[in-house]
Amino acid sequence: MFQSFLIKYAEIGIKGKNRYLFEDSLMSHIHHTLKRLDGKFTVTKESGRIYAHASEPFDYDEVIEALKCVFGIAAICPLVRIEDRGYEDLKEQVIRYIDEAYPDKNFTFKVNARRANKQYPYTSEELNRELGGEILEAFPETKVDVHNPDVLLNVEVRAKGINLYSRIIPGPGGMPVGTNGKAMLLLSGGIDSPVAGYMIAKRGVTIEATYFHAPPYTSERAKQKVIDLAKQVSRYAGPIRLHIVNFTDIQLYIYDKCPHEELTIIMRRYMMKIAEELAKRDQCLGLITGESIGQVASQTVHSLAVTNAVCTLPVFRPVIGFDKQDIVDIAQKIGTYETSIEPYEDCCTIFVAKHPVTRPNLAGIEKSEKNLEEKIDELMKTAIETTEIIRC
Ligand code: ATP
Ligand code: MG
Repeated sequence: MFQSFLIKYAEIGIKGKNRYLFEDSLMSHIHHTLKRLDGKFTVTKESGRIYAHASEPFDYDEVIEALKCVFGIAAICPLVRIEDRGYEDLKEQVIRYIDEAYPDKNFTFKVNARRANKQYPYTSEELNRELGGEILEAFPETKVDVHNPDVLLNVEVRAKGINLYSRIIPGPGGMPVGTNGKAMLLLSGGIDSPVAGYMIAKRGVTIEATYFHAPPYTSERAKQKVIDLAKQVSRYAGPIRLHIVNFTDIQLYIYDKCPHEELTIIMRRYMMKIAEELAKRDQCLGLITGESIGQVASQTVHSLAVTNAVCTLPVFRPVIGFDKQDIVDIAQKIGTYETSIEPYEDCCTIFVAKHPVTRPNLAGIEKSEKNLEEKIDELMKTAIETTEIIRC
């Protein structure tokens, strides 16, 4: 029954020139999303509102699912747009709308008419009253509830016709991707980093990703898992360039030269350094990780401080204050959880010491890293130069 969708977006904080950028970007994301689906859609802006209209048959559920992934959308309102052919016709259309949209008539409702077209012969108040009366008469099981109705039927009389809508489906919120620069996500096969990428993309940031692979200690399967996760995040974040860095030689070298209880922290520092180098090459303005305070030894405040010391770009850690369960909840909501919990080998855990340091100090770690001086620059250069890029 619905041929169009009214797209609502949160406007707070986006005024003036930014508002146009935001709207244009949102329209283009909606356009690209719908283009991949069956049907033919046009996306328009009319008096500061965004609509998507279908001119061919389409799958309603598929459209809703797709729009729920477009950041910047606060709500999706499927609507029926009718021509203004006078009150009698409007009345019939309203009754048909209610009949088709709500097969079970046991609900309370309120009519909320708005008249953008002031030439229209009825005032909003009159429309509310009249149409409310017609609905009650046509469907005696229904009741009016002006305070807390089950169904709020919006009737918008506009210059170019009348919109009827009552369903309001929450969108993902956030800002359209691409309106806020680009950042590099350190993406592992775990639960946290895909969530971190999602959260930063939701603020309008374009995402690239880097994965540190350590064959043969980590398998092709582990790599495929990260590719799958990047694809899942890309449903929201748009296409992601995934950089796969071969980290094996660096890891073995650290293993060989540094105290074992410091392996993880030193490894994390080299991951950050390499990710930062790749980030700068691709004009990324920040790094993103899934770190959360206290989750593991390498994420105590002391460890985070020591890891952070190698970075010159800002590091965004959107789940820093989240409990694991909070992160799991988001992972489940965005559909990455099932993939994240598949068993796999993580290059951080393979070489891990039984008792990793939890209170490393920077000077001590830097001293240990002196042992790497001979070959580390060369190894890093090779790792960066042999990076494989996969478009996800
Ligand atoms: P996650 O669930 O994201 O794997 P985690 O709880 O396992 O996180 P760590 O393994 O300590 O935590 O990693 C902390 C962060 O470092 C990750 O969230 C991720 O951003 C990054 N990271 C860890 N391992 C890798 C890797 N192999 N490739 C890329 N990034 C990684
Ligand atoms: Mg991990």
